Amino acid sequence: DPRIQGIKTKIRVVPNFPKPGIMFQDITTLLLDPKAFKDTIDLFVERYKGKNISVVAGIEARGFIFGPPIALAIGAKFVPLRKPRKLPGEVISEEYILEYGRDCLEMHVGAVEPGERALVVDDLIATGGTLCAAMNLLGSWTFKRQAIVCTCRVPIIVAELQMIQLACNG
Ligand code: 5GP
Repeated sequence: DPRIQGIKTKIRVVPNFPKPGIMFQDITTLLLDPKAFKDTIDLFVERYKGKNISVVAGIEARGFIFGPPIALAIGAKFVPLRKPRKLPGEVISEEYILEYGRDCLEMHVGAVEPGERALVVDDLIATGGTLCAAMNLLGSWTFKRQAIVCTCRVPIIVAELQMIQLACNG
């Protein structure tokens, strides 16, 4: 798709940010270009519209930029997966390992119902740890709700890795 090349050129690569050796993919420059930003959203919408997805789960913080326009266009609700202690209601949490240390994602209890199909949106995959935590969060919630009738983890639907990487790596 010719739009992908256009998108790639709008993502600034910042060497040694936030620490030496990291080539940071900066999507704020993509957001400055309305056509490239729209093309990014359109590509996801074309791929996921009509696929019976009822939840778009956006990972803090850049999943909050790309997730809501995709959710609106495909007719799904938007659910934020947030860093700890940001959500005011009852939450379920999923800890995950970072390169150095740990982090955690949280989701409001009741935001997603058993049996819903979820699309997880973020801007970039590095180790995949954040995405795995998001999958576990959605999966464990489904599992908890269905624990009486189900003895194994219920699979959840996430965006294929290549599509999540699209915004930064093409
Ligand atoms: P992972 O958990 O896959 O190692 O890291 C992915 C997470 O870190 C994503 O939430 C993403 O926003 C953030 N991240 C890591 N490296 C980059 C980068 O180079 N650019 C951007 N925009 N986000 C990054």
